[in-house]
Amino acid sequence: MTDKFIKNEQFNFIKKQIAIIKDTAKKNVPPSILAAEIDLANAKIMDLIPNSSLEQQEILDLSRLKTDEEYEQFIDRIASFLLPFPKITEQQLKKMFPKNKKLKLPDLANIDHNKLTYLSWNDLRSNKKFIVYEVDGKMVGIECKFTPTNKKNICSICNSLSEIAYFSTIVKTKKTKNPDYYKSIGNLICSDSGECNKNITNGEYLTAVIKESLGM
Ligand SMILES: [Zn+2]
Repeated sequence: MTDKFIKNEQFNFIKKQIAIIKDTAKKNVPPSILAAEIDLANAKIMDLIPNSSLEQQEILDLSRLKTDEEYEQFIDRIASFLLPFPKITEQQLKKMFPKNKKLKLPDLANIDHNKLTYLSWNDLRSNKKFIVYEVDGKMVGIECKFTPTNKKNICSICNSLSEIAYFSTIVKTKKTKNPDYYKSIGNLICSDSGECNKNITNGEYLTAVIKESLGM
């Protein structure tokens, strides 16, 4: 039996490729164009998981699928290979935010760890947002200022149009000797990180912002 090997963001990416194929198929394009679209999607999916085994490549191969039903079955099947977000305890979370003595913790028992790229929760009383993500094999967390906008825009993390909030976080830069030097970085992100986790197709932005913030 093959071990679980697909990350949530990769699963979302594959689903997006399938949506593109289905969309093209509906437009009654010539068969050669549809075949090229499927080839392209397959190539992108194969590139998604570096050093994948032959068995994994076979699981991910969608080139023989034809009907909507087959695509649905394919998605259900690859969902069984989803790598869950690592189990994390409240104790570990507290250690990630040692300066926050009144840390509000997420309801870990009620979070679906199977479809999670990053863990995030808000403390609306203090307008804070917490983000926990694995960077370079290590679970790390950042604390952000969080300002809801009640507007729709493109989220920096998942690149989807959604209700967004403005977040900013302090950079502890190593580039200067001045201990009082602080820089703030910020951007627009989904207000609802549950929705964001359904749309995220890669962790590049998250990695970059966390590395910059923590000086990694
Ligand atoms: Zn998002």
